[in-house]
Amino acid sequence: MVQVGDQFPLMTEACEAIRRHVLDDGKSYALANKSDHKRFILTCKALDCKFRIRASNTKRGVKITISNSHTCTPATHYISRPAHSIWYLKGYHQALIINNQDITPAQI
Ligand SMILES: [Zn+2]
Repeated sequence: MVQVGDQFPLMTEACEAIRRHVLDDGKSYALANKSDHKRFILTCKALDCKFRIRASNTKRGVKITISNSHTCTPATHYISRPAHSIWYLKGYHQALIINNQDITPAQI
């Protein structure tokens, strides 16, 4: 869960937490053109959607400064490429293996 006011020590940690939060929620995202080394902004693929999450680099670390929910239809998130990426899925498979070390590759 990511919400306004959450703080992270590094921008990379904030980026990963935000991306996971969106994907865990079954939604998708698009990286905003305004993102740079000081700001990380995710928007929606649908142009009329109000979804927006922004992490800003401040003197005290990285802070979530904007968090608006999706206002688009669920069809927007059908077949989301980031949700099927190795980056996202490997976190769940590592947890699965740690919990059950007798698990076979076929079961995964
Ligand atoms: Zn949306």
